[in-house]
Amino acid sequence: MIQIAQNCVGCGKCTAACPFGALSLVNRRAVASSACTMCGACVSQCPVGALSLPQNTAVKKDLSAYKGIWVLVEIGTNAMSQHVRSVSYELLSKGRELANQTGEELGAVVIGSNISAFYGEISQYGADKIYAVDAPAYAHYNTAAYANALITLIKKYNPSVVLFPSTYVGRDLSPRVAAEMFVGLTADCTGLAIKDGNLIQTRPAFGGNILADIKCPDYRPQMATVRPNVFKKVVSAPGKMAQVVPETIAVPAEAAKVRIINTHMDPPVSGLQLEEADVVIAGGRGMKNKAGFDLLDNLAQHLGAAVGASRAAIDLGLKPKEKQIGQSGVNVAAKFYVACGISGAVQHVVGVEHCGVIVGINKDANAPIFNVCKYGLVGDAGQILPKVLEQLKK
Ligand SMILES: Cc1cc2nc3c(=O)[nH]c(=O)nc-3n(C[C@H](O)[C@H](O)[C@H](O)COP(=O)(O)OP(=O)(O)OC[C@H]3O[C@@H](n4cnc5c(N)ncnc54)[C@H](O)[C@@H]3O)c2cc1C
Repeated sequence: MIQIAQNCVGCGKCTAACPFGALSLVNRRAVASSACTMCGACVSQCPVGALSLPQNTAVKKDLSAYKGIWVLVEIGTNAMSQHVRSVSYELLSKGRELANQTGEELGAVVIGSNISAFYGEISQYGADKIYAVDAPAYAHYNTAAYANALITLIKKYNPSVVLFPSTYVGRDLSPRVAAEMFVGLTADCTGLAIKDGNLIQTRPAFGGNILADIKCPDYRPQMATVRPNVFKKVVSAPGKMAQVVPETIAVPAEAAKVRIINTHMDPPVSGLQLEEADVVIAGGRGMKNKAGFDLLDNLAQHLGAAVGASRAAIDLGLKPKEKQIGQSGVNVAAKFYVACGISGAVQHVVGVEHCGVIVGINKDANAPIFNVCKYGLVGDAGQILPKVLEQLKK
């Protein structure tokens, strides 16, 4: 919390400067509440220099003791079986690239029950070691149990980097682990690189208007989450088998606070999953109404495509939120992506940049979507699409 010295004159300039409303005047003196984030915005506003940030007295860690790039491999479950979530392979592929650069090992951390069948495939994506916590107690995801397992492993092996998928599990687990390790966490990175021994974590900031490079030079491990379809999957070691390091970690008592009584799978969202589809057709505000999106659904059926939407179309209620493509929706990596009546705002385009062929249909020849398209059709989508459909039917 911000430090307030005795010479505070109670002028109130700091209370106005605090973006979190954490400062108030009590008996003509500034007082900070627990809402203080120590951002320091008030310090320069104080005319008598009564405010200061506490000195960082923490002993600097010996960073050379931290080695290895780790990826949390997520096991997904559906009604019948378990599988490794594809994003884990994307992270392992990127992790392999980073590990080659630093000359360190790539470690895959797998927590679950009956998971040994996956070790072969995990190895092919370049893992040198698989840290496996395999016990019936880990059959279902439990925040306290999984966090404890991961923290135990991190404290034992001191990796330099830990990457998490930005899925429900990764988003739940990573902040807890980061808080316990007292390190930073960069969410939803769109780029990762190594520079001067640090992990450069790139992510959109200020509403996607800039890309910020974030590094954590003083603490280890460096932690980041990455959404599905940001990196490409690369089988870099076909036929290779990683060294499996089995770990037995007792589940902490805290985990018993949550008991799985029953599991219920939501009915599958209708249509193909956007993240996995080879062909995606997306509509924007330019598709105007339900009839416009019915046209897209019809076309998608003929092409075996999944249908997505821009945020503007989602806001109009033309598709459910889980169909939103872009920065605050899902990323797609289709071989063929058609954007109909979508302007091509940066927040949308960031979600399709790993697509193969991009086609834009827009009545405005200057729409930014045409900057990222291989083929562009300038015209009214309401007239162009029925003609395409007619040809497909033939
Ligand atoms: C923090 C933040 C996060 C965001 N996240 C996302 C996100 O995840 N995904 C996302 O999509 N957006 C996101 N946005 C919103 C984004 O900035 C744009 O507002 C949005 O993408 C615009 O959607 P649109 O292209 O459908 O609509 P518009 O920008 O209104 O464009 C409509 C387009 O349709 C064309 N058009 C109109 N009629 C026709 C017709 N008959 N035939 C052909 N073309 C026609 C127009 O020429 C125009 O280019 C985000 C914004 C912020 C600030």
